[in-house]
Amino acid sequence: MSSKKGYSSQSEKATAERSEQHGTGHYKTLVEQFYEALLLLKALSGLRDGYNGFPVSKNLEKERLRSFLRGLAYFCDFKKGGDTYTGIGLEETETEYIFWVTSNKHRPDLADFLKDLLSRLKQLKDAPEGSKGRLRRSLQAMCFSKAGKRIGMYQAHLTKSIAEAQGILAKPKTQHDRELSSWMSGLNKADMTYVELCDSIFTASKENHILRLLRSRAKFERSLENIRGKRNAFDEVRHYIGRLASHTRTLNQLCDYVEDPLIEEIIRAPVVRQIDPLEQAAEPTYDIHTKLKGLLVGIKDDAERRQVESRLDGLDRQCEIFDDISNQYNNFKPRVHAEVQILEHFYRKNLRFANDDKFVGGSKPSCECCYLYFKYHPARMVLPESSHKVFINWSLPPVTNPQSGDAEFIQQRKILSKMVNVLVYDAISEILGCRTAPCWRPDSLTDLSSTIASSPLMEPDGVAGPS
Ligand SMILES: [Zn+2]
Repeated sequence: MSSKKGYSSQSEKATAERSEQHGTGHYKTLVEQFYEALLLLKALSGLRDGYNGFPVSKNLEKERLRSFLRGLAYFCDFKKGGDTYTGIGLEETETEYIFWVTSNKHRPDLADFLKDLLSRLKQLKDAPEGSKGRLRRSLQAMCFSKAGKRIGMYQAHLTKSIAEAQGILAKPKTQHDRELSSWMSGLNKADMTYVELCDSIFTASKENHILRLLRSRAKFERSLENIRGKRNAFDEVRHYIGRLASHTRTLNQLCDYVEDPLIEEIIRAPVVRQIDPLEQAAEPTYDIHTKLKGLLVGIKDDAERRQVESRLDGLDRQCEIFDDISNQYNNFKPRVHAEVQILEHFYRKNLRFANDDKFVGGSKPSCECCYLYFKYHPARMVLPESSHKVFINWSLPPVTNPQSGDAEFIQQRKILSKMVNVLVYDAISEILGCRTAPCWRPDSLTDLSSTIASSPLMEPDGVAGPS
């Protein structure tokens, strides 16, 4: 995957030299290093340290609007997985507000769904007090039925986790175990509709006493396993309670936010437009036999480079890490993630974000590459909530004219160079054992598994958080 130096002809050599002169050769090397570091991090822990929580603002109006956009994006993302990840950017012009929406994979029905959602929220706002309950229930039924596959999957996981946890508690020794076992039995009833299920789990998610018992039982089980980060049945129960409760909590928030004067004004006559997805930038060709040599290029210290090489060989003998990387590469389909599409759409067209808040509402926390792209982009965006998960199917946005004098190209090269520094540093640190691989953490919006990820910033969305 490193740049080839064995040129087969004079013309190839001349082209390569020109590329180097124009900075395109350097760019190509950067792209190779970028994907090498990504593939390696994915094969190692798949995560970077830390968790960036939802960006709070001192300005409550801004924060409510951010949260509103995030809630809309949440209900536009109907399924588990990355394809339906949705991003929303709100533009403010002299005369109107425009919701720009897109997802990781193009979905032709996305804008229509968002229009319907906004129109129902406006109806709810305008309705007389006596009709609000009916309209709210209808809105909830629409959103939850659309998210049916996701809710059904969480329900199945919750049922399985509760059965496992009950198995562990089969012979309860303490009063707390009995209390916990009886509480879990009442959580999930097969004949519930999705609305009833999420509402009842939401109510249960506010029972702090019992959730403390659940958390402490999960901690106890982890201590028996003595493996950092490994999840047990009690962790899973907490996790899926959080997932299911978040549907009702997010809907409640959306319904409350329409009473906010700014949001009321925004949804009065909203325009919704879908962004045409950006094509992926060219991907590098990967040659497994180079054994990540591009990654090693950046290590100036000879001794350290030899150490990294030797550790890589050791890892390969131990767990066939190069085969793993090679397999990942065979399914390599990079694409421009939704939040990056929104960022670039606003930046390239010089659009003004509503409330002058350069924020993109995402349906889930952003991945590591999107986070770094936002961080190093000159647009000075609000940094997104991020799980710092590494996904290899991430592409830079394409540059129209990838030549040395092109301002857009130079800018992208600068961003990429900074991203590569971070990713390569982390990959090498992990190889050399200079950091402990971070624990598992979820990539969904709201979650109760924060004790495992040691991420207090996630807690406000969890059981004990505001409803
Ligand atoms: Zn991403």
